[in-house]
Amino acid sequence: MDSPLDEYTGKATMEKITSLAKRRGFVFQSSEIYGGQNGAWDYGPLGIELKNRIAGAWWKEMTQLHDNIVGLDAAILMHPRTWEASGHVENFTDPLVDCKQCKSRFRADMIPEDKLAAKICPDCGGGLTDTRKFNLMFKTNIGPAEDTASIIYLRPETAQGIYVNYKNIIQSNRMKIPFGIAQIGKAFRNEIVTKNFIFRTCEFEQMEMQYFVKPGADEECFNEWRKRRWAYYEKLGVKMDHLRWHQHGPDELAHYAKDAYDIQYLFPMGWRELEGVHNRTDYDLGRHTQYSGKDMQYIDQDNNNERYIPYIIETSAGLTRNVLMILCDAYDEEQVADKGNDDDWRTVLRFHPTLAPITVAVLPLMKKDGLAELAQDIRTELKEDYSTDYDQSGAIGRRYRRQDEAGTPFCITVDYQSKEDGTVTLRFRDSMEQIRVPRAELAARLKQEIKTYKRIK
Ligand code: ATP
Repeated sequence: MDSPLDEYTGKATMEKITSLAKRRGFVFQSSEIYGGQNGAWDYGPLGIELKNRIAGAWWKEMTQLHDNIVGLDAAILMHPRTWEASGHVENFTDPLVDCKQCKSRFRADMIPEDKLAAKICPDCGGGLTDTRKFNLMFKTNIGPAEDTASIIYLRPETAQGIYVNYKNIIQSNRMKIPFGIAQIGKAFRNEIVTKNFIFRTCEFEQMEMQYFVKPGADEECFNEWRKRRWAYYEKLGVKMDHLRWHQHGPDELAHYAKDAYDIQYLFPMGWRELEGVHNRTDYDLGRHTQYSGKDMQYIDQDNNNERYIPYIIETSAGLTRNVLMILCDAYDEEQVADKGNDDDWRTVLRFHPTLAPITVAVLPLMKKDGLAELAQDIRTELKEDYSTDYDQSGAIGRRYRRQDEAGTPFCITVDYQSKEDGTVTLRFRDSMEQIRVPRAELAARLKQEIKTYKRIK
């Protein structure tokens, strides 16, 4: 493991990432024409591809590569008793204070302690209100009557959908402990402070896996999942010196958790949580037993029908927060000296090819003389296996820059020689190296390059 950095040394800033994301169609502000909706963002053509690929990489890692982990897609709206059982109705609160003068609103735990104690606004020096608790769950009503009986919540985490289905899945899929259930889906939190672009939003997506184990086997399993989650980011080519573990101290540990570690990433604004690995004990299934009256014990048929409430090891990552992490991690600016212009700078997103929204762009050197048709033909051939782009406008150097900025790992350029000998130029985003490859070998060559990709910068 590379030692974690003391401070951010990358080229990204949140301003640059936000502006690139908008310019290139990764992420737009929600309802921008009405002045924007705080805490909500829209994923554009490149953003949805990136988000889907990150979700796909996680899904493959957590389900396909394990014999004993299955998937689930539970509803966002759940029976309100779920949230009483989980403790969210009572405890899912943030401490809130307002400035009486400038009307700014803060999470009390994010204000310097001396200012909070003296009730001084950190922004304008005005007086602060007392701290009050604020529940983060979005509440709405189901059905036509807007009374207390019709209250329903937008789920603040995906995990509970897994717990309430754990018995269904044991029965329908004949799962035996230890086993896991994975889910990717939307979650909603009425966050007091949403800043840093898509880092903390009111509507976001989570990728959670809940692993059910026999009490006593939980500690070893917890350590195993910590190793696996770390290895996952390494496999994605993330800069490992930008990742570190943070163990929850006694004041941070949720009341039900036996142990908890966050994987933190060094974002341009500093070290922040990316994912949590938690030992949730038998709390969740115990509470659902109590609130639903249903027996949530596991019956071990291979062991004299021994009964117990399983312990749960949870890995909980933000999908949308992972999108921000991957954008920051991939972002680079460098001076390039191609085309004989020493002052030329390029912005490049060094995505792992399996995550890049566009895998390969096909560029005819000229539109005329049949080059455009030949390039289109090559694109059609590659489409079946790869996400492709086609660009015939502007100087070739500028077209490469556009693809670099979108993070496209491979460009194929079709020129006059292509017509003569059937070869094309394959250009690599990271090294900017160009080689000639027979058209017939392109698909196999790309496959090989993706499989053996190693980040060089
Ligand atoms: P925080 O302390 O940052 O509010 P948390 O500890 O409450 O986060 P968890 O409940 O453990 O977060 O959620 C698991 C993961 O879901 C987090 O690691 C994060 O990646 C993601 N996540 C949580 N809240 C948000 C949010 N408001 N916006 C985007 N992602 C979020």
